[in-house]
Amino acid sequence: MKKPVVHVKNVEKIYGKKRENQTHALKGLSFSIQDGEFVGIMGPSGSGKTTLLNVISTLDKATNGTVEINGTDITIMKQSELADFRSQKLGFIFQDFNLLENLTIYENISLPLSLQGVSSGKIGSKVEKVAGMLGISAILAKYPAEVSGGQKQRTAAARAIVHEPAIILADEPTGALDSKNASSLLHSMAYLNEKQGVSILMVTHDSFCASYCRRILLIRDGELYKEIYRNGTREAFYKEILEELANLGTQTAQGGS
Ligand code: ADP
Repeated sequence: MKKPVVHVKNVEKIYGKKRENQTHALKGLSFSIQDGEFVGIMGPSGSGKTTLLNVISTLDKATNGTVEINGTDITIMKQSELADFRSQKLGFIFQDFNLLENLTIYENISLPLSLQGVSSGKIGSKVEKVAGMLGISAILAKYPAEVSGGQKQRTAAARAIVHEPAIILADEPTGALDSKNASSLLHSMAYLNEKQGVSILMVTHDSFCASYCRRILLIRDGELYKEIYRNGTREAFYKEILEELANLGTQTAQGGS
């Protein structure tokens, strides 16, 4: 029996202190993500996707409820413990790459390991392994300014997995990429998930992007509205997602980038 890598239970998030100014962004959400899953979060603008990702990322605190990652309840951890937890157990891919411009591609990828004090010999073999998986071995000596947007995002993906985190959290990872580079990154993410067993949670408004997931959580008004599973082809799933979003009444169903 596989254990859940993420277990979200009755999570509420209320922004604002004064009652009249409060926003109930998450209204008691519960779900689990099993080890090795590739799960998407979709929903209309303002439905709580970013808030949910921030709560799971340990970047924001839930008002009520618990979030367990690999069996550890992060909602009761101290701020000082959270930073260590985040750097060891989580991998991040953001829309805008978040690479350090004055470090080489190699140094950017190795950052999570150097921060953990891993020896340079071990770092070398790990960086080369993930760079090979993501097809960026040839650019390791370059700086971010010298490589394409697609290569930057594959560098971010390599950095996200090099320390073998419990899960990768991705926020609109293809948002700044053209369609060719977006497809290529999504293929890489699917490869990491299917062949390397990497667990991924991705927030996206893009149906094409979401069609690479195996399961999608549809969020509406801070609540879990529906879960959909990919059973057939990716193309069939893409159509199903478009239909579900249309049913949800969103303006976000164009996708196809
Ligand atoms: P989504 O990512 O789905 O667009 P968000 O999680 O950003 O949704 O927002 C959910 C709700 O919480 C919205 O009503 C938004 O205005 C509100 N919200 C988000 N962040 C804050 C904040 N820092 N302070 C107050 N309200 C916020």
